[in-house]
Amino acid sequence: MTAPLRIALPGAAGRMGRMITTLAAADDRCMIVAASDRPGSPMLGQDIGTMNQLPVSGVVVADDAAALFAAKPDVIIDFTTPAATLSLAAMAASHQVAMVVGTTGLSAEDGKQLSHLASDIPVVWCANTSVGVTLLGRLVEQVAAKLVDDWDIEIVESHHKHKIDAPSGTALALGQAAAKGRNVDLDAVMSLDRTGARQDGDIGFAVMRGGDVAGEHSVIFYGQSERLELTHRATDRVIFGRGALRAASWIAQQKAGLYAMDDVLAD
Ligand code: NAD
Repeated sequence: MTAPLRIALPGAAGRMGRMITTLAAADDRCMIVAASDRPGSPMLGQDIGTMNQLPVSGVVVADDAAALFAAKPDVIIDFTTPAATLSLAAMAASHQVAMVVGTTGLSAEDGKQLSHLASDIPVVWCANTSVGVTLLGRLVEQVAAKLVDDWDIEIVESHHKHKIDAPSGTALALGQAAAKGRNVDLDAVMSLDRTGARQDGDIGFAVMRGGDVAGEHSVIFYGQSERLELTHRATDRVIFGRGALRAASWIAQQKAGLYAMDDVLAD
């Protein structure tokens, strides 16, 4: 029998941190060996089991990322904030620990830094760890390559009211997939301010925030007298947690480099 995967969990008090704690507790192929949250979090010092209505785990939430690495994890699963992600990635590189980065809202510069650090350690960076959304990205690329002249692409996303970044990392990744299909640079065609007439070739984004929506994304191809819509609806955050655990067990076996969820699912 192989030893369980040792996971360190920053952001343990957050929505995704709690989801991953709950999923890992029910899976004997992995175990959470250390957890942290931001300094000042009301959950510091609490046992990650009891705070999620699970049996006592013996792992308490630390305010110090050093505690994550002291536990000798195989992998860090990060769903925090862009600033925390980059500081954790730098520490992971110096400790030679693999990483799953689910945090969204990273800037282009953050992405460059992460990619640079991934030359030393294996990193899966994925704005959406769901299997369905990963497949949606592939479909969008294929459809965008076929529906060119006179077809307008719009991307619409909805999320719960606590989400900070907009458009979502997933919406931007779907925009990248559409731009790749059309062989154009997304930055040159993305449209966020929708005042004024639509320019040919634009890829437009619309954002909705409210309630407890786990995540909905539609890529709509508008033609003349017809419309093709590709939609993914997440009804529970559990799909992101399951995907993150799958990515974690995969990345722990890889060589240094930056990978995407597509790579995880390809195996
Ligand atoms: P959340 O705000 O509920 O949780 C984030 C947690 O990180 C909080 O508990 C916060 O205190 C903690 N944190 C902040 N700074 C920290 C630090 N320096 N060290 C340790 N912990 C720190 O948010 P969430 O809904 O769990 O989402 C987290 C991130 O994951 C967001 O960027 C979100 O968009 C993204 N997300 C990605 C996916 C995906 O599939 N990749 C799915 C859901 C959410």
